Amino acid sequence: CVAASLSKKRLPLARFIGDSAAPVAANFDVVVIGGGHAGTEAAAAAARCGSRTLLLTHRVDTIGQMSCNPSFGGIGKGHLMREVDALDGLCSRICDQSGVHYKVLNRRKGPAVWGLRAQIDRKLYKQNMQKEILNTPLLTVQEGAVEDLILTEPEPEHTGKCRVSGVVLDGSTVHAESVVLTTGTFLRGVIVIGLETHPAGRLGDQPSIGLAQTLEKLGFVVGRLKTGTPPRIARESVNFSILNKQTPDNPSIPFSFINETVWIKPEDQLPCYLTHTNPRVDEIVLENLHLNSHIKETTRGPRYCPSIESKVLRFPNRLHQVWLEPEGMDSDLIYPQGLSVTLPAELQEKMITCIKGLEKAKMIQPGYGVQYDYLDPRQITPSLETRLVQRLFFAGQINGTTGYEEAAAQGVIAGINASLRVKRKPPFVVSRTEGYIGVLIDDLTTLGTNEPYRMFTSRAEFRLSLRPDNADSRLTFRGYKEVGCVSQQRYERASWMKSSLEEGISVLKSIEFSSSKWKKLIPEASISIGKSLPLRALDVLKYEEVDMKLLAKAIPEPLKKYIECRELAERLKIEATYESVLFYQQQQINEVQQDEALQLPKDLDYLTLRDVSLSYEVREKLHFSRPETIGAASRIPGVTPAAIINLLRFVKTTQ
Ligand code: FAD
Repeated sequence: CVAASLSKKRLPLARFIGDSAAPVAANFDVVVIGGGHAGTEAAAAAARCGSRTLLLTHRVDTIGQMSCNPSFGGIGKGHLMREVDALDGLCSRICDQSGVHYKVLNRRKGPAVWGLRAQIDRKLYKQNMQKEILNTPLLTVQEGAVEDLILTEPEPEHTGKCRVSGVVLDGSTVHAESVVLTTGTFLRGVIVIGLETHPAGRLGDQPSIGLAQTLEKLGFVVGRLKTGTPPRIARESVNFSILNKQTPDNPSIPFSFINETVWIKPEDQLPCYLTHTNPRVDEIVLENLHLNSHIKETTRGPRYCPSIESKVLRFPNRLHQVWLEPEGMDSDLIYPQGLSVTLPAELQEKMITCIKGLEKAKMIQPGYGVQYDYLDPRQITPSLETRLVQRLFFAGQINGTTGYEEAAAQGVIAGINASLRVKRKPPFVVSRTEGYIGVLIDDLTTLGTNEPYRMFTSRAEFRLSLRPDNADSRLTFRGYKEVGCVSQQRYERASWMKSSLEEGISVLKSIEFSSSKWKKLIPEASISIGKSLPLRALDVLKYEEVDMKLLAKAIPEPLKKYIECRELAERLKIEATYESVLFYQQQQINEVQQDEALQLPKDLDYLTLRDVSLSYEVREKLHFSRPETIGAASRIPGVTPAAIINLLRFVKTTQ
């Protein structure tokens, strides 16, 4: 069991920064290794839960660094950010102090799948995150590279497993009750450009070798993944005048529930521009494959954020989008999203300059790839504690995910649970029916992953209730009451919103007129209000052309008070839109939850099964996975909630 070193030597610690009240001693409740997106959330969450926490990271000046894209959010990812925020996490608030272009994606679809997204000023994000982290009570920050773990005998109730009790830095040790590992792409990280490789966690940062060896020696199953980043281009060298311009939304929708607005007005935000690749780009990629070792590597890269080489190979003769995104308000750099590449640097420049608008582009930093170790996430429990070593937690890219938001979501859960473990309290687990965080962690811990995992709305079975707008009502109260990771201010705001929504909905239900009267009151909606039936105001609010402002104009009393807060007015409209489908979906959630453990007959032939409506794709998936229970069937990716309900009802009637 004690494969890692059991260092007894205690040397003076390197450099402590931050909470001046914290003792400069080598004993903490929780130690978090890594100051990336998972680590910052984990450290802050553990401290919010009342644990004396130490964040150990290579460099304080890289805390909050965005290794790749200068943006946060998007479809599925925006949902995760709202949930992190609902638990009083950091990234949404920090984005609202650093965003330079806000745009909600997927607007043409329903609000349940809107993707809150923003371009972020890298420098500002880092500065604001560092300020937040260095001023968090109970949180101390120390620079250093963790080389090893300290392990002790197992706790009596968990015989057979060893327990982590601290970490070993270069020449010193720190003792901790729980340890959270969030080392991102650093475990045996190798950077690749063309045929050149060198060890690094990301450009300019050393890799973590000792820790990777320790984890392997302990018996953890380790895999290898790869990812990459595009070159950066000098802003002044781009000819924006011939490109499609995308302007930000007006008004900007903040990421955080506690913000009414963001730090910068829409008219002062920066635009993005769209260009495309062309056949010449394909030629350069294809002619030079022999000079590109990253693309030849058989390890898996991010399927949903592929390199330009993968796109050219998988989808030949297509034009691919390249978004030219600002890196910040006063940055001279442009980030060409969609152009992640690992060709030798001179060929990257050649490729860039054959793209429209980039004919005279100057490359400031070449794109590069990174290959790294990750740990099979089936080795962790839903609280993110490892099954092999007690009180050791993993969060972020180390678990095979990709993306800042996925990392942040795991970080907040690992930090909370590391703290709860110290207090010997039961773990805090978010279920699939409660949040995208639950979907993410359940997918990872039950199915594992062999390619970088990213979040999509299609991964969630109950999309209509797991909306970005209602993450606070799903998680803030649990965070406040069960674990204490939510501030009083946020709790009060969420409570006010909850009671205002309930009151607003009941008022809207109580106002009822004939459809002819509604047509006169709201002529804008007269086509939709067709039949001559009595209609409640809540029903009228469901029509696309009606919003709370229009309703309140028609019936100022008692509705005008509900339009004073933009968020409340929008949420009432969303609640009205989903009222009946949600009622139906809640019944389905209850049904599946009640019967999660229901055994599926072992001899069920899914391929030929009649009397139950299942698509061929679902039948195939059930046939190959042979789940034992309804719960297990519901977790197979691609098996839809409707299919599960049909299967559940079929099995119950034939039993
Ligand atoms: P990171 O943000 O990487 O943070 C790890 C932290 O751990 C760092 O602060 C590091 O200094 C610290 N650390 C590591 N080892 C030690 C140690 N032994 N001791 C002390 N501190 C240590 N995501 C996408 O969604 N799309 C992309 O296209 C994409 N491309 C990427 C390209 C590159 C080159 C890289 C490096 C990452 C890319 N990502 C991409 C991933 C995204 O950056 C990560 O998913 C996210 O940053 C992971 O957060 P994390 O907290 O797990 O790790």
